[in-house]
Amino acid sequence: MDKLIKSISDNGHFRAFALDSTETVAEAQRRHETMASSTVALGRTLIAAQILGALEKGDAKITVKVIGDGPMGLILAVSDASGNVKGYVKNPDLDYQRTSTGEILVGELIGNGQLIVIKDMGLRTTYTGQVDLISAEIGEDLAWYFLQSEQTPSSVGVSVILEENADSVKSAGGFLLQALPEATDEEIAQMEKQIKAMPALSELTIDQILPAIYGNLTYKILEESPLAFYCDCSKSRFREGIRSLGPAEITAMIEENHGAEVVCQFCGRAYHFTEVELNDLLLEKSDL
Ligand SMILES: [Zn+2]
Repeated sequence: MDKLIKSISDNGHFRAFALDSTETVAEAQRRHETMASSTVALGRTLIAAQILGALEKGDAKITVKVIGDGPMGLILAVSDASGNVKGYVKNPDLDYQRTSTGEILVGELIGNGQLIVIKDMGLRTTYTGQVDLISAEIGEDLAWYFLQSEQTPSSVGVSVILEENADSVKSAGGFLLQALPEATDEEIAQMEKQIKAMPALSELTIDQILPAIYGNLTYKILEESPLAFYCDCSKSRFREGIRSLGPAEITAMIEENHGAEVVCQFCGRAYHFTEVELNDLLLEKSDL
């Protein structure tokens, strides 16, 4: 099962998260049948959303949009504070050669554009932050977002490695390191040096990530919790969606298609509505 580990340095100057998101990204790949580059771009965005969700509490919902002018098109992920994430990529079919180390670069396929983060804290309170993409490899862009929008010096890693000669996901994970207000410039510089010297994320197990980040700095684990790809869609929600189209549209569905099929864009699940079910909707409508 995928896992998030939250930690804080004993001196209280830094916090760090380590994420194993292998199953999350594997599930997204299977549901959307994405090819190599699209899998990596979507996977990194899902991990970024899980990192942002891990910073929240309660019923908060986070939406991450990566909007570039390249062939990838929009990448969208929605996460919560409980480790759930769902999402999709506009173009699931980009399949490019990977580099010799097995990593796939997606920046050129995403192109120039923006990273947008929308936080819905409930009670109609939303916060939106936006930065220009730096490299469009997602990790660096999220670190830039934390610095620009939240004034928090941060280092972010997001990694998706695919099986050789296959589109399936071998491993996926990430980390977040953030300087807290008490951290001095000297300490931040030291941590940055350590992060640069760290082995590639794909070479570390989740239990090796935090020791690699902190180096000699002592820290304590605050919490371990599960992460998962999870879509909260349901037939009743899509039923409401069809109802809102109005009687003329519903009548057309009955007469032309003798039913309706709706596919959830977040998870690919298909919901079928029979002629009888659509007729029931029309009857309910006339009750109003
Ligand atoms: Zn769904």
